[in-house]
Amino acid sequence: MLDDDNAREMEAQLTPAVLASFQKNDFNLFTFSQQVGRKHQLSMVGYGLLKIHNVHHLVNPQKFFDFMRAVHNRYSREVAYHNDLHGSQCALQVSQLLNQRGMNGIGLNEYDHLALLVSALCHDIGHDGFTNAFHKNLQTPRFLTFGDVAVQEGYHAATTIFLIEQREYDFFGLPMTRTARRLMKKRILCSILDTDMACSKQLFSDLQSHLEKRGIKDGANFFNFIDRTNSDTQERSKQLISSALLNAADVGACLKPFDLSQ
Ligand SMILES: [Zn+2]
Repeated sequence: MLDDDNAREMEAQLTPAVLASFQKNDFNLFTFSQQVGRKHQLSMVGYGLLKIHNVHHLVNPQKFFDFMRAVHNRYSREVAYHNDLHGSQCALQVSQLLNQRGMNGIGLNEYDHLALLVSALCHDIGHDGFTNAFHKNLQTPRFLTFGDVAVQEGYHAATTIFLIEQREYDFFGLPMTRTARRLMKKRILCSILDTDMACSKQLFSDLQSHLEKRGIKDGANFFNFIDRTNSDTQERSKQLISSALLNAADVGACLKPFDLSQ
């Protein structure tokens, strides 16, 4: 078992065999967590997925591990489902979806992949095990802070961005421009907000309309998904596919066999 969050030590554990196991349908996160220690599993799955998608060069490794430890500490072990293991499970699902045949033709770049993986890892940070309706009915502090739309998701998104803004956790590497950083944070914020299941119907209706409008059917014209008319249409297209993939992964994470999802 690992002793600390030293990036080099953690990276050394992410051998090609471990990374290959992350991509298998029968990967058992619970066994992996026991092997490396629960406090390390989210960091290691997170950085491992960055390596699999070849976006790890965009981050400062030590700051990324420190950030992931901070995220891990804010996931409650008292919550049976929406905890750090669910964050990892969802990110693993996102990774599998990104690796589906045809997805690399859609035109998402390395920044898009990084934003989506971070969104998945953090999307339920600080979940207290209650529903949005509970917070609304009891007028809890969380409801009074984040309003009656996406109470929990507002909390998860705000907490994630708050952590990224802290100098010690600002994992974005030097090659990233200010514009790219701003877009990354906006994408992460919106993707996490869109994990509110109340948004799912509208989200998938928007996706269906987009597919029809762009002539995408039965896997054909996938390259046409991103509307490159201007920067706004491009970002809207990318946000739409990012939110849809995260939403699908969030739901899909609990559809695995019982011993793999518990
Ligand atoms: Zn979730």
